[in-house]
Formats: sequence, structure tokens, C-alpha cells
Amino acid sequence: MERLYSHQVDAVHSAWRGPTIITTGTASGKSMCFNLPTLDVLCRDARARALYVYPTKALAQDQARALASFGLTKRVRPAIYDGDTAREARADIRRSANVVLTNPDMLHVGILPNHAAWADLFANLALVVVDEAHVYRGVFGSHVANVLRRLRRIAGAYGTEPRFLLTSATIANPVELAERLTGLEQVRLIDEDGSPAPSRRIAVWNPPVTDAELGTRRSAVGEAAELLARLVRDGARTICFIKSRKGVELLSRLVKEDLHDSHPELAELVMPYRAGYTSQQRRELEGRLTRGELRAVITTDALELGIDIGELDAAVVVTFPGTVASLRQMWGRAGRRGRGLAVYVAGEDALDQFFARHPEDFLDRPVEAAILDHESPLIFRQHLLCAAHEGPLSQDDAEFLGPRWEAHAELLESAGELRRRPIDAASGSYVPRHHGRYPAAEVSLRSASPDSFAIVDVSTGELLGSTEAARAHSTVHEGAIYLHLGRAYEVNELDLERRRALVGPFGGDWYTQPKRETDTEIVRLLDRREALGVTLSFGEVSVTDTVLAYQRRRVSDHAPIDLLTLDLPSTSFSTQALWFELDTQELAETIPLEALLGALHAAEHAQIAVLPLIAMCDRWDIGGLSTNFHPQTGAPTIFLYDGHPGGIGIARTAFARFEELCEDARRLIAECPCSSGCPSCVQSPKCGNLNEPLSKAGARLLLERMLAAASPPTLAAPL
Ligand SMILES: [Zn+2]
Ligand SMILES: [Zn+2]
Repeated sequence: MERLYSHQVDAVHSAWRGPTIITTGTASGKSMCFNLPTLDVLCRDARARALYVYPTKALAQDQARALASFGLTKRVRPAIYDGDTAREARADIRRSANVVLTNPDMLHVGILPNHAAWADLFANLALVVVDEAHVYRGVFGSHVANVLRRLRRIAGAYGTEPRFLLTSATIANPVELAERLTGLEQVRLIDEDGSPAPSRRIAVWNPPVTDAELGTRRSAVGEAAELLARLVRDGARTICFIKSRKGVELLSRLVKEDLHDSHPELAELVMPYRAGYTSQQRRELEGRLTRGELRAVITTDALELGIDIGELDAAVVVTFPGTVASLRQMWGRAGRRGRGLAVYVAGEDALDQFFARHPEDFLDRPVEAAILDHESPLIFRQHLLCAAHEGPLSQDDAEFLGPRWEAHAELLESAGELRRRPIDAASGSYVPRHHGRYPAAEVSLRSASPDSFAIVDVSTGELLGSTEAARAHSTVHEGAIYLHLGRAYEVNELDLERRRALVGPFGGDWYTQPKRETDTEIVRLLDRREALGVTLSFGEVSVTDTVLAYQRRRVSDHAPIDLLTLDLPSTSFSTQALWFELDTQELAETIPLEALLGALHAAEHAQIAVLPLIAMCDRWDIGGLSTNFHPQTGAPTIFLYDGHPGGIGIARTAFARFEELCEDARRLIAECPCSSGCPSCVQSPKCGNLNEPLSKAGARLLLERMLAAASPPTLAAPL
């Protein structure tokens, strides 16, 4: 490339002036937007250093190679510092690398607590690049927002104030995301893409209905296999994304089988691309694909791919990847030689079907906002403790940690975690009570609460990860099928005492769904408004859960196999929720009393199903409860709550955008062709009551009635 695109020029200018976030398209040369300012600074100031933060090791490796390709070997010395970095290389990197590429976990547990060893980096830190910032949302994002504040705080202690440059996929709230992540204000946005956009043809394929009553359709994987085989025969270089590793394997097999009879030589040109390959194997596959030696790769996640595969003829996405932002990113791979085919094959989940019916609604505007809350109390206090370990907390820290840090510090003091050291009558500082402890090692950036259960694969002894204690009973009870990185495991034992779940590889064809009893208690009202003819509240609730049993269901058709009882104690956690109360008298005119609970329950499910379109999250991050009488409200009530202890902003967003949420839920139900509810509308794969009772018709009436009450319209039309 000889000239910069206009957005790259804008980004460079903006980066000189202040913190900036860049949200242009997948192949628009986004990394040039932060590499040029970095190279500029490094070439001018021999002591200056930069830190690049990547969500995955693979992306950091790609960027390190991209930096090396500038050929400025004397001036620019990039090095990766992550869990794979050899011990003997570490001291050298700390001393001499002037672009350190790392990930949030390493920053949190390795670099910040050992800042003294990194003194030279912090004392000369000019730039911090946060690439793929949209990945930092939900629980993970709330943690990373604290890690970046700790980073600014430590840099401040060494006398620097690094400039932050971020990039993100297209989302509804890039500036807000950047500000929430870094704690900085007035972040500039570069979103006018000046690169030539490839003309991309978009196709949305909804597999044909096989049973109209039940709403069942032909399998998305089967349909996708036919389509891929066709593309391969026609000579198109294709990448295909599907969620699970099992999906990758099944789809690869089907495509190869399809090709085998007619074109055996083509069957060899289709490869699955899984996690677990070494970076060298990945490079090799990517190289073969770019050179056209492979026709199709089938993979699980866009992020596992390096950035160097170039553009292909076609990108096929099978089942909804969770957000429109990631769908766009996957589609962005199609556009070789200025044109490409982008396909979406819909699955049967509610979001899949909703999207398939209204692609234009979602593609014309970014609909999802990336949500995070750095002050989610449990998460914030964990990092406050880490920060105290990195240096005494004092009044100056409000600048980095926010004005409410001291209130949290006082709580940690009374919990015996922090000690207050008076400096004079008016001010003091907080230090850890227990020296010699290493708080960062006890904080996982993927879990809202420090109170967690370890998940151990007994076949290998490997620690797969951890799950919040609040969720352990429902996700890793004995007999549960647990999914990790697209692979299935069966839980052999849940050891409550030692707080761990022992699991083993699972090859069966069923999944499990827990049956549980949930209660919500309203603890504190934080906000209230009238909306759609109901009283809508937002506040803190305490959720008590008892997992009673679990159902095994066949993967192929979801048919229940059996119900097995469990004997587990109740658990509870506090979180944020919205709730709305309905008027029994008025309801009785619309919905017969015996259908009321089913109507509330189905409405709750539909709202949970579409909430991820407003607040970037997964339906598994949201809990719900509907009851025809709640003891505190004295009325039929629906609760939607953050599924993570403390809450991370999902319920707050739903509260703010309640009207949209109800309209989307109504459309989801009204447009589904099934007769009385199916997995594409009101049935939920995570319902604690195993989808009993549900009234699709009742929920529709309920939501229509609420939306009709909104006159005059409470919202301007969103378009
Ligand atoms: Zn349906
Ligand atoms: Zn339910």
C-alpha cells in the first residue's frame, strides 16, 4: 500500500491529540491506525515504550509479526510477554523491548503486581493499544476495565500518562465502551471507513420447516454442508464458522462425504480448523488457504484465526454467533478481489430465527451495546485489593479508581482485608492487612465473584477453568454435561467441600437441563418509572436457587430422556434486576386466570431471548422469574436479573431500553409460525421449570396490551 486511507490519516491525527477508538471494517487496515502513531513516537524518542493488549495469544503473535514487517529493527523492538514466554527471555524483554504485546490476564497477574521489575517500561510508557476492545464486555470487560485503571494508576506513580488507542468491531456504543474500559473522558471516535468496500452479496438461509405445528426445521448443519460442497465445487475459497468443536467436526465430515462420490480430489481440500493447533500449524493452514491450495476451512471462532488469511470468496456463518458484531466480523472475511459472498444459515434458536426474519433491521445499524460495569461491587473490590497490594491507596486514587473507591475500601477494612494508615487527621491511606499475600493470583478475570469452583478434567488432570459458586449447582452438578471451548464433558462429581467439579470427556448424544426453584427478594429500589402502562423498577435483589433435579435430553430432537433428582443445598447471591408488576384486575380482562402464569412465563422467556440484541451478552448471563403473586409487590410480577453476582449492567440496560425490549419480544412471538410455542420463540434451553407452564398466546396478548398502552409513543422511532 502506498497511500493511507482517509480514516487512517484521521486516526493518526486524532492519536496525537487524545485517546481514540477506531471502529472501521474488518479489512480496513485498522492496525495501521495505531501502529503509525506508535512507530512515530518510538522513532522520535529512543526511550519511549508502548504496550499492546490483545485478548488472545494468537492475535498478539500476528501483531508482533506485522510490527516486525516494518523493518525498523533498530528503532522498534516488539516482544510478546504472555504465559508462553520463556522464563529466561523475560528479563531481557522487560529491559529492552519497546513494544510489549500481552493480554489482560498477564497484565493483571504478572506485570502490574511486579511493577518494580517493569519500572523502566512504566516510566517511559507513551502508548497503550487495546485492540479488539469489543471483546471486553460483561464480566470479562468489567474486570479488564479495572485492570486498565490499575495500569493508569501505576503509570501515574512512575510519572507517565500513556495515550490510549483502542479498536473495536462495529457496536452501538464505541465511545462509551472506550470510556468505561479506560476511565478516560472525551475519547475520540474514528468510524468513517475510507477503504474501498468490497461489494458483498449477503444471503440469509432459513432451513425449510419440516413440522409447522412444532416449528421444527431441517438441520442448519445439513443445509450448510450442501452449500459448502457446492461452493467448493464451484471453486470458491471459503471460510465457514460454526460455534462448537463438535459442529466443526460434523460439518467437515458431511462436506467431505458430499464431495467424496463426485469429486474425491476436492474432498481433500476441505479442512477443519480447531483450537489446540500450534501457531506453526495455524500459519501453515492459513498459508494454504491464502494460496488457494485449500478450498474451505471450517472453524469455531473468528478470534482463533490470525489476521493474515487475507480475504476469501465466501464466508458462511452457521447459526447465530451471539452478536451481530461478530457476525459482521466473520462476514468481513469475504471480499477477495473486491467482491464476496456472505452467508448466514439460521439455526432454530429464538435469536437465529428472529435474525433470519429481519436481517435488514440488524444490518442497517449497530444494535448491540457492549455492556460492562467496572464498579460491579464484587469485581471492583477484588481489584481494589490488588491495587492496594501494588501501592497504598490514597486520595489521589479517585482520579483512576473513581470517586467511590473509598467507600469500598472502608468495607474491605471492616472485612479485615485492608488496614487504614492515618497520615494526618483528615486523610489516610489503605494498605493490605496481610502482607505476603498475592491477591491478583486469586482473581480470575472471567468470573464475577472470587468465590468459585474449579473444573478439573480427571482424564488429564487439567484445570479447565472455574465457575462462579453461585452457578456451580446448576452448571456442574453431578451428571451435568458441561461445555468448554466447544467440547463436551460429563461431571462425575461435584465436591462441595473442596469446591471443585471433576469432569471427564463426554461422547454421548444428550445434554442436560437443571430443574430448579428460584426466589427473588427485592433488597433495594434504585430507580423506577412508568412504562407501557406498568410500573417498572430497577434495583438490587437477592436470588435464591435450589437445584432439585436435572433432565437429560437428546441433542438431535431435544426429546427428554429422563429426569434425575439431586440433593443440593440452596445457594443465594445478590445482583441487579428490573421487575414490573401487572394489574390482576386488568389482566383478567385479557387473559384467563389459568393461563396467567404461562403467559407471564412465556413473556419472560421471550424478553430474555431478545435482550442480547440490546445488551451484548448471552442469554445464559440473564436470569428470570415470573410469578402470579410476589409477596413484596403483591401482584403478578416478572423479574429479569443479571446472572452474575453483583450485576454487570445488563439489567440496567434492559431497564433503560424496556420499550424496545418488549417490542422485540412481541415480534419474536407474533412472527413465529409454530402453534403453541417452540425453541424458536418462547421455549428456553435454560428454563429452571423445564418450560412449564408456557402460554405463547397469553404472552402475545400481554405484550400487545402493554405496547398498546404506550400512547403517545414513549420513544421516537429508532430509525
Ligand atoms: Zn415458536
Ligand atoms: Zn422459565
